[in-house]
Parts: sequence; structure tokens; C-alpha cells
Amino acid sequence: MLLGAHVSISGGVQNAPQRARDVTCDCMQIFSKNQMQWRSKPLEATEISQFKENLGKFDIRETVIHDSYLINLASPDKTLLTKSREAFLDEAVRADQLGVRYLIFHPGAHVGSGEQAGLRTVAESLNWVRKELGSSSVEFIIEITAGQGSVLGHSFEQLSRIIDVLDDQKRAGICFDTCHAYAAGYDVKTRSGYEKTFAHLDEVLGVEMVKAMHLNDSKGKLGSHLDRHDSIGSGFLGIECFKHLMNDDRWESVPMVLETPQAEKNYANELKTLRSLVEK
Ligand SMILES: [Zn+2]
Ligand SMILES: [Zn+2]
Repeated sequence: MLLGAHVSISGGVQNAPQRARDVTCDCMQIFSKNQMQWRSKPLEATEISQFKENLGKFDIRETVIHDSYLINLASPDKTLLTKSREAFLDEAVRADQLGVRYLIFHPGAHVGSGEQAGLRTVAESLNWVRKELGSSSVEFIIEITAGQGSVLGHSFEQLSRIIDVLDDQKRAGICFDTCHAYAAGYDVKTRSGYEKTFAHLDEVLGVEMVKAMHLNDSKGKLGSHLDRHDSIGSGFLGIECFKHLMNDDRWESVPMVLETPQAEKNYANELKTLRSLVEK
């Protein structure tokens, strides 16, 4: 299992590997820049080389990058859409520079233009970015969402409708967030619900498309469409769902990261809990 957490890049990306190791991560998720700003200065060569060196030094075996929250690749507003596409291209370039393969993002919100148009716009955005990016091994990983408001990507079918239109489907995948999936209506809590959910995912997308996971408990009930994470074992999911995940061979080499509310204060505890669920 590759277990880790979302860690801060305060002081520079090169500081993240040690921060992740301090809380016992094998893998980590980071933002590659301030996630609340459109623009940020390019990565410097020394930051990049130190980052790579520190990954080895602190034994962080996989890194995933989460994109900025401002980006909406589904936006019906031309100006915002262009800005989003350019910002996402910048995210992909930074991931490439850091040697990070998986760039995780939320598909976006259609803000009234409708599901059909929204999903098409997301796919067109990804195709544009892929073309601009040129040859790069960076993969675009679409995260399942809780489906609040007009947010897209809260069903396997919607994710598949985006992927179907991509020019480069090989370098695409999905990120399964346990909190979002539960809030979207997938009952991964019970054993039978867990099995049914992933059988359904396999049918619609193929389980091999799951390239990353976010492990979060949920402050919202099943189908509540509430995107509010809770600490592992403290929310409506409880410990059971994570027991199924920790003992499922299919996720053996899939990076799984926490995005829980207490962050670095509690990550080590939560990772310990998760590791204790593995039945040998
Ligand atoms: Zn997530
Ligand atoms: Zn979330």
C-alpha cells in the first residue's frame, strides 16, 4: 500500500518531502503553487532539483499534484474558461518539471449551461491543454466530486463521458475520493455497498482507471452532496469503509492520500489507524 497525505509546500516545494516523512507518509499530494492565486512565479531550477533529491532522501515513493481551486475547465464564461485552460496548462508544465506523473483536478461546474455542455467543455479543455503541452508523461486525473450545486463529475458515467472524448485516453485516469463518492450517493460503507460500487466502476470505467485515491471520512450523509471531509473514523463513513480499502489488492500500487481537516496535526495518527486495518 502507498499511504500518505496532502502536505503543505510552505517555504517551497522542496520542503514537502520531509514534511510528508515526518508524518510517516510513503506518498504525498501537494499543490505546486499557491492554490488560491491565478499566477505564481515559475519554479526555479534549484527548487526542482532539491525537490527531486528530497523525494529520495525522505523515501517518498509517489507524488501527486492537486490543481488550483480557481480553475473551472467547464466554465461557460469565455474569459474564465481561457484563464482556466492557461492555468491548467501551467499546472501540467509544473508537474512535468517536478517529475510528477499524476495531476489531479475537479472537472468543474457548468454554472447553468447544463450537464451536457459542461462535460463537453471539460473534455475540450483537456484536449487543448494536451495539445499545448506536447510530449509529456503527465496524466490528467479527474476526481470524483460530491456533486454540490452545478459541480460535474459526481457519477462514474459523467467521468466516462469526459474520458470518452479525450484525444489521449491513455494519459487519463480518475481519483476516487471516499468522502465525495459517499456524498455523491455511492455507499462504500457497507461490505456489499463497497463491492457493488467498485463492480459498477469497473463496468463503466475499468478499475485500472483508478490511479489515485483520497481517503477522507465524510461530514455529510450518503447522497447529501456535501463536500466536507472528516477525520478517519469520525464521520458518517466510519472505520468500516477503510477496512475494505486497506485489504483490497486492486489498490496495491495506487497512491492513497489523506485530505482530512486536522492535517499535519493528526496525519500520523490517521495513517497508523489505516495501517492497523490491514489484515495479514
Ligand atoms: Zn479529494
Ligand atoms: Zn473534497
